Amino acid sequence: MQALAIHKPETVAQAIALHRAGESRYLAGGTDLVPNLRRNIQKAQSLIDITGLAELREIRAESQSLRIGAGVTLEALCGSDAVRAHAPLLAEAAALVAGPTHRVSATVGGNLMQDTRCYFYNQGDWWRTANEFCMKCEGDTCRVAPKSDRCYACYSGDLAPALLALGAEVDIAGPTGNRREPLAALFADDGMRHLKLAPGDLLVSVDVPAQAGWTAGYEKVRIRGAVDFPLAGIAVALKRDGDRIAALRVACTGVNSYPGLVPGLDALAGQKPDDAVFAALDKAVRKEIQPMASTLVAAGYRRRVAAGLTRRLVQRLYEAAA
Ligand SMILES: Cc1cc2nc3c(=O)[nH]c(=O)nc-3n(C[C@H](O)[C@H](O)[C@H](O)COP(=O)(O)OP(=O)(O)OC[C@H]3O[C@@H](n4cnc5c(N)ncnc54)[C@H](O)[C@@H]3O)c2cc1C
Ligand code: SF4
Repeated sequence: MQALAIHKPETVAQAIALHRAGESRYLAGGTDLVPNLRRNIQKAQSLIDITGLAELREIRAESQSLRIGAGVTLEALCGSDAVRAHAPLLAEAAALVAGPTHRVSATVGGNLMQDTRCYFYNQGDWWRTANEFCMKCEGDTCRVAPKSDRCYACYSGDLAPALLALGAEVDIAGPTGNRREPLAALFADDGMRHLKLAPGDLLVSVDVPAQAGWTAGYEKVRIRGAVDFPLAGIAVALKRDGDRIAALRVACTGVNSYPGLVPGLDALAGQKPDDAVFAALDKAVRKEIQPMASTLVAAGYRRRVAAGLTRRLVQRLYEAAA
């Protein structure tokens, strides 16, 4: 592993001032970054340890929303009364991230900002050398789609779909100032550049609006039930009015280079969840997702599973909302 300088700022402003484009990386729990540095697939000359920033560790109920600091650990998120009361979906999704020992240090910000993943990329140096690398790191060809000029590495974070389904916004501080934007605006459909962040941008917090009338849930499929990234993960938020679906949001992870909301579901609002609605839902999910052969599991399987998870969740939440 390369030699690294480690800085320990005490404020957000200090952290941003310490950042050098192309050289520095922010270090939160390190459960994604450190393995990547050890494998030499992400590089850095200095790490800016943001775990000491008090501003990032707070969970605060505000009048119309819940503010969650980017440095809140997943263990703290799962155990927070405010989260369980205001947005239990987040605790549900966080409890499915990795294993319990990871969640002690893993943070909300690190989870959202984690690198994309691919079987041909998340390998040791010797493995990648023997296979002549790939376009995302040190090579020039994509091993998944050799004729492609883009990377299809998969975004596999579990919190992003839950936060998208809840309509969350993010607060970002950076060298050019602070901004708030919808979480969805943070992501791009590109396995090599999936985050729309300028150098030095730091995620400070996520803001979850009030969820009156919504019921929500998250399910994922993974190889090892005790500890693993999603092969496909689906978050659903649903409002029921009598025997009809009043509003529906579906967000997915593990199936594209970005976590995304399935578009076109407004057309299902006001309808009873009958076979025609489920057929339309199935079609919308399959249209949105584009799993590629970037994991040990067949892409077609992940696509079918994503549609199946969606149907199961919508049925469960519709019944729960009765
Ligand atoms: C065995 C194993 C299993 C895993 N399983 C899962 C899983 O099931 N689901 C899942 O989602 N993840 C999984 N992970 C990945 C990882 O553990 C989690 O995503 C974790 O939440 C990452 O958070 P962290 O604080 O450790 O991030 P770090 O590793 O510290 O950081 C990750 C990235 O985010 C950047 N970053 C961190 N905080 C900020 C911030 N505030 N602003 C800007 N950039 C920031 C860092 O610079 C880095 O690039 C797994 C990892 C391992 C090793
Ligand atoms: S999708 Fe292609 S370029 Fe991207 S990490 Fe995998 S093999 Fe490399």
